[in-house]
Amino acid sequence: MIVSMQERATEEQIDAVIEVMEEAGVSVHRTTGAMQTILAGVGPTANIDLSKFEVLPGVLNVLRISSPYKLAGRAFRPEGSVIEFANGVKVGGEQVAVMAGPCSIENREQMFTTAARVKAIGASFLRGGAFKPRSSPYAFQGMGIPGLQMMHEAAREHGLLTVSEVMEISQIEEMSLYVDCFQVGARNMQNFNLLRELGQMRKPVLLKRGIAATLEELLLSSEYIMSGGNYDVILCERGIRTYETATRNTMDISSIPVIHKLSHLPIAADPSHGTGRRDMVAPMARAAVAAGADAILVEVHPNADKAASDAAQTLYLEQFEELMAQLRVIATAVGRTM
Ligand code: PEP
Ligand code: MN
Repeated sequence: MIVSMQERATEEQIDAVIEVMEEAGVSVHRTTGAMQTILAGVGPTANIDLSKFEVLPGVLNVLRISSPYKLAGRAFRPEGSVIEFANGVKVGGEQVAVMAGPCSIENREQMFTTAARVKAIGASFLRGGAFKPRSSPYAFQGMGIPGLQMMHEAAREHGLLTVSEVMEISQIEEMSLYVDCFQVGARNMQNFNLLRELGQMRKPVLLKRGIAATLEELLLSSEYIMSGGNYDVILCERGIRTYETATRNTMDISSIPVIHKLSHLPIAADPSHGTGRRDMVAPMARAAVAAGADAILVEVHPNADKAASDAAQTLYLEQFEELMAQLRVIATAVGRTM
């Protein structure tokens, strides 16, 4: 259930409503928007008489939520969520955020060169995998914590934030020293224990859509994180598996407006994994910004052809620069900045 408070509701009135909701057996999640406070009651609400909430002082209206996700739904934050990072970087606001870097962290030179260039070109996040979910156990598995330390150092030297994939619960604590945003990869979108644990953190999570996941499943996965009190979730469209074989995955651009309609959470687009092909990354990135993506995640590498993983879909830094110039024009056309 969602209880929307009146704009002028006092703290005492809000506390009193929370108390009655808890007495009715739901756990209460509170969000304070620019205009009003919204209280989401999660739990069994089928037998709760909503009219008893409608008459409480300060209440504007009460809704029973029929969708399976309660906290991820638009009604919880009708104006949309803006995730704030250090350095004033925001994801979900007017500006389209840019996350760029190699698939895998490989060495110092690669990370420092990449950091300097992507910062100059306009990215605000440096990405790089240190724990890699590879389809083959014989493929490069990533540098682990020493790699993250390297990425963190390069990012800080150039005023960038870091984003990197966490694969299991045991990695969270040490990773949190080096990452500003945890990435949950497509293969772990339904690793519910990992999601619950990230829900206990107070650090943003970039949650990628699973390879065969519906958008409802993606939103339910975000609910695992949010129900722990961590509301800073950025969803990510990274392509899904269909019967088409011309591209590595099928980039579902329509997921962007669908998510904006269903949810208040920002959505990023990853055209690198979405297509698997260097020559297709730019067209899909342009389409994603035109469709309203709140962030773009792109794999770039100073020597893309030699990247230790995902070389075929990795852009050279020059290509990334050219792409960013195009994206800025598109962003302006759809009322965003970049
Ligand atoms: C990645 O970002 O390098 C990655 C492995 O992504 P995904 O989980 O989308 O395959
Ligand atoms: Mn990759």
